Amino acid sequence: MSVWHGLVGQRPVVTSLSGAASTGHGMTHAWLFTGPPGSGRSNAAIAFAAALQCERGGCGECHECRTVLAGSHADVGVIRTQRLSIGVDQVRDLVRRSALAPAGRRWQILVVEDADRLTDQAFNALLKAIEEPTDRTVWMLCAPTVEDVLPTIRSRCRLVTLTTPSAADVADFLVRTLGVPDDLATYAARASQGHIGRARALASDDATRARRREVVSIPTRLRTLGAAMSAAAQLNETSKAEAESITTELDAVERADLDAAYGVVERGRKPREYAPARAALEREQKTRAKRRHLDVVDRALMDLVSVYRDAVATAVGAPGGLVNEELREQVTTLAEDGGPEGNLRRIDAIFAAREQMLEFNVPVMLALESMMVSLLPPVDPAGGSGGAGAASALRRRGNA
Ligand SMILES: [Zn+2]
Repeated sequence: MSVWHGLVGQRPVVTSLSGAASTGHGMTHAWLFTGPPGSGRSNAAIAFAAALQCERGGCGECHECRTVLAGSHADVGVIRTQRLSIGVDQVRDLVRRSALAPAGRRWQILVVEDADRLTDQAFNALLKAIEEPTDRTVWMLCAPTVEDVLPTIRSRCRLVTLTTPSAADVADFLVRTLGVPDDLATYAARASQGHIGRARALASDDATRARRREVVSIPTRLRTLGAAMSAAAQLNETSKAEAESITTELDAVERADLDAAYGVVERGRKPREYAPARAALEREQKTRAKRRHLDVVDRALMDLVSVYRDAVATAVGAPGGLVNEELREQVTTLAEDGGPEGNLRRIDAIFAAREQMLEFNVPVMLALESMMVSLLPPVDPAGGSGGAGAASALRRRGNA
């Protein structure tokens, strides 16, 4: 299997990159890979790195290809981070490497997976290296959009733009790589809305599917103010638990690394510099935990949006399948009850909650509660919307 097989629904990108790798046509010293989350920007960069190191343009089988893909090739350096930002120290190491001749006969390749997280200082260190590349140096930066990278760097890079893969491409990929049955692959591809990692998780993990089912069933369960409150609480709790399952292990590894770096374990005592370093690490871990929680909530909100969007599509009779095909009956009810306007208003309410949490730091629970209330169906046809009635009930409750 060639190095490109993991790139899903990105044919134009594969054509131009494999062309550059095998013929040198369009080859340059700095590349910027952009694309929506889950489209595979860093996979594309790593596949390209393998193709450049391979004698056969990315066969996927030779020693060069295999070591690049496994992350152990001597001439491919990667910055990959779980941190919120990439500091100048991490970049300096890569910059030093970029000035060296490759150990092998081909290229010295440096990949920065989350170039949008570079601090300004790190950006500047990188800029100098990108401005003065050696003959054999290739930089590959990855970021969600070109706007995430300083114009001075952007202007020196050839742009590679990945797009959201189609559901058919994703389903096909799941069948090929995971060997899952067609119907499960089709479901996971639709529900992931083109996010490959999410599609894989949905296709291979029962718990992930169960959590999504829980979220997309919320609209049908929202009948009363009490149901809205408990849906908010439940969503908040389950997403916190899911986020913690990711960060707890990571936190422990980082603490152990820190202890090892300061010799706390061998010497059995803590040097003076240890306490501030530990405090700084814990601060960052706390920020990261909060951010992961927001990420998980955000994904749940997008799943919720997909149900109301299906309802709008059904209400206006739009052609094509639903994201939540398995909920067609419930979606039809939502479409009949709310019409396109009612369901569009609900989508607005979800985006408003998202903005409150992500932009204005409104506590998650508060934003979710007020959102769930505005998702309630209208109760009194004569006296305006149930959302408004419920909102004033909520205010009364708050004042009591
Ligand atoms: Zn190869």
